[in-house]
Amino acid sequence: MPIRILAGEVVSKIAAGEVVDRPASVVKELVENSLDAGATQISIETQDGGVRLIRVTDNGSGIPAGEVERAFHRYATSKIETITDLEKIATLGFRGEALPSIAAAADVEILTRTDDETAATYLLLHNGKIAKSDKRSRPRGTTVTVHHLFRDVPARLKFLKSANTEGGHIANLISQYALAFPSVRFNLVLDGKLTLQTSGSGSLRDVVAEVYGLEIAQQMLEVSAMEQIPGVSGLVSPPSLNRSSRAYLSFFVNSRWVSSSLLARATEDAYHGLLMTGKHPIAIVNVSLPLQDLDINVHPTKRDVKFRNTQSVYSAVQKAIEKVLVKTAPPELKAMAPEQAATPSLWPVKPEGLSLPILRVLGQLASNYILAEGPEGLYLIDQHAAHERVLFEKIQSQRAEHRIEVQGLLEPVTLELSPAQEEVLKNKVELLSEFGFGLEHFGGRSYLLKAVPAMMAGGNLIEGVTELLDSVAGETEPAKRDEKIAQSVACHSAVRAGLTLSSEEMRALIKQLESTKQPRTCPHGRPTMIHLSSHQLAKEFGRTT
Ligand code: ADP
Ligand code: MG
Repeated sequence: MPIRILAGEVVSKIAAGEVVDRPASVVKELVENSLDAGATQISIETQDGGVRLIRVTDNGSGIPAGEVERAFHRYATSKIETITDLEKIATLGFRGEALPSIAAAADVEILTRTDDETAATYLLLHNGKIAKSDKRSRPRGTTVTVHHLFRDVPARLKFLKSANTEGGHIANLISQYALAFPSVRFNLVLDGKLTLQTSGSGSLRDVVAEVYGLEIAQQMLEVSAMEQIPGVSGLVSPPSLNRSSRAYLSFFVNSRWVSSSLLARATEDAYHGLLMTGKHPIAIVNVSLPLQDLDINVHPTKRDVKFRNTQSVYSAVQKAIEKVLVKTAPPELKAMAPEQAATPSLWPVKPEGLSLPILRVLGQLASNYILAEGPEGLYLIDQHAAHERVLFEKIQSQRAEHRIEVQGLLEPVTLELSPAQEEVLKNKVELLSEFGFGLEHFGGRSYLLKAVPAMMAGGNLIEGVTELLDSVAGETEPAKRDEKIAQSVACHSAVRAGLTLSSEEMRALIKQLESTKQPRTCPHGRPTMIHLSSHQLAKEFGRTT
């Protein structure tokens, strides 16, 4: 075939496919238009997963009669004008593609009125062309109704999932927008059933109560670090409240719902060591950034954003959440009697068994576990994991205060590094010296280890340092990298499993564990102890039910 320019109709179908690929994306575009129009009330109604009907009604600014038709032209927008406007986009839409794309894939009706008009403008479009136009009455605002989506695009229709699945996407989408805009009243009706209704009270917690339920809403912790750039705000779950999937993570940038692996990582990293492997927090996080620090024009659906400074966004989010988690960890919890311990608690496992009350060491099991008795039953403590937790917090606080205890080695230890380990080392000599490691190049890939963090002396240093280098390879986030070094130091300094401990040593370890911030997990997130309550024991022995 010769090269030819595609006919306008074909071009608009292709372009439409980018913006509108399923009913939920039509809903998204219409709701974003309502939000951009300053609506405080938005009602969404769909039938048959949105395929038969989608109707979005708002009380926003409306479109002046003379501009309604133009709104359905490609690249027709009231939101930007010049190229420089693209660098500071404050609205959700700006590409002028949604209405024409939707009109290319369905029959569309619009009824809209501005404040200073007496009558509303009504248009009906078939195939993107006006089939009917008249004047009607309605209060200020806009209603767009979409009929028979994709009826003439069988290829698209074929790929849609069941009405229930498509309805689920719509419900999730509206939930996300409700979380992003707590001051807007949302009303979602799927096939005649009221599925979600928010009050528009302006309180994010109120929206969370509607979306996830009251019990979750009550437990969520408030994140508010708005005095900085980027500002971070939202609600996050205490570690005791977690889920097995990431579906409960919602991220917004300047109230725009985005999918961002960076924000997900920053959030989850804040919980590092607090959640079991495979568990994820519930979080609603909004990042506020100056418009020019952000590029939204990355993808037609605008779910991807590019940050100018990814590192500062990562650490702002990670730190803001971490601060809340640490602040809410009640220090007195450890001293409290179990029955007094407040719930909801920060600890991953319910705190009933902890307040590490006075524990009486009974003995050691398999040279590995410390058996202890407390007022609430039996405690099995993993000696290595517990010691790791103690040392991990110790080295971290020493480093934060720049007073790492260093042990010089009388006899330097020679390390033979792999090329990859050497690469890591070359970039990190200074950082490692901040942690107490003295290293000197000896020729080839050999290095002399002349000093180590004091807690590590006496351990297997060759293994310790090489494993440390392996663990930080490829880690670019400074906070995470430092944490990995601290983990590695702690791991290679802690008492090993298989070592017989005296009662004195066991008692000392438990005492140290009591004074850590997170006594229930090791730095890798594994539990340090298992608690069998008196009740559980009685149950196991059939003394009670
Ligand atoms: P964009 O949102 O990118 O500008 P759209 O095709 O979605 O493009 O909309 C075109 C224009 O129509 C918008 O710029 C806006 O002026 C107007 N418009 C669309 N929907 C509404 C609405 N619900 N309320 C007020 N104006 C609207
Ligand atoms: Mg739009």
